Amino acid sequence: MRMLITILTIAFFSGLISVCFAKEENFCSNQILARETKSGFTWTLTSRLGEILHSAEKRYGKRDMSWTILGIEFTNQDQPEIWYPSPSDNRKHVIIQLTKKASQDKKSAIYQLSHEVIHLLSPAGRDGSSVFEEGLAVYFAISNMQTMNYDINERYISGKKYKQAYKLIDNLYKNFDNAEARIKQLRSKVKRTRDISPQQFSAAFEGLNKRYAQLLATKYSDWKL
Ligand SMILES: [Zn+2]
Repeated sequence: MRMLITILTIAFFSGLISVCFAKEENFCSNQILARETKSGFTWTLTSRLGEILHSAEKRYGKRDMSWTILGIEFTNQDQPEIWYPSPSDNRKHVIIQLTKKASQDKKSAIYQLSHEVIHLLSPAGRDGSSVFEEGLAVYFAISNMQTMNYDINERYISGKKYKQAYKLIDNLYKNFDNAEARIKQLRSKVKRTRDISPQQFSAAFEGLNKRYAQLLATKYSDWKL
């Protein structure tokens, strides 16, 4: 019996170790601890942020450089988000907040980080993002992780609204040649992604249903499914 308990205990802890290299106050240290290697340091969420941001900029155009990205932190909230810590917008500081789940699960962390990177391209501030921007964030998160060789597809998306927002962008990719270049061009015409108007969507995606263009430009929090 004691032998069995010992085996089960070892199995339990080796299971934990395979998920987390080591645990420090519930956080996976291999996501935040940069260990020195021959050529630099191991990947952390911070160095991943640089790579993901670079990838998003290549696909959708440069970010608004007037904002300063302070870093990444974890919260007890259910949703990741962009947080503006200063009392006024003058400082233009931004923090990426990931969930507690992301602190313990690397796949969740990279997924959430990829999503938030789209918001970092042009932070919407108090005005909030549009349906298009949220859809693009979900679409990019999935496709970016596929390029990073993660086994992931749209079934990973949680929440009815996010799933629907993903479909709106996926449809653009499927129905228009060079959809990505058109999105990049659209972004270059506005200060923030959330500001792209229905008329601009219609001009960039000729033949697009007017109500579809209108929906893309709708404030995400106003969208009722
Ligand atoms: Zn979002």
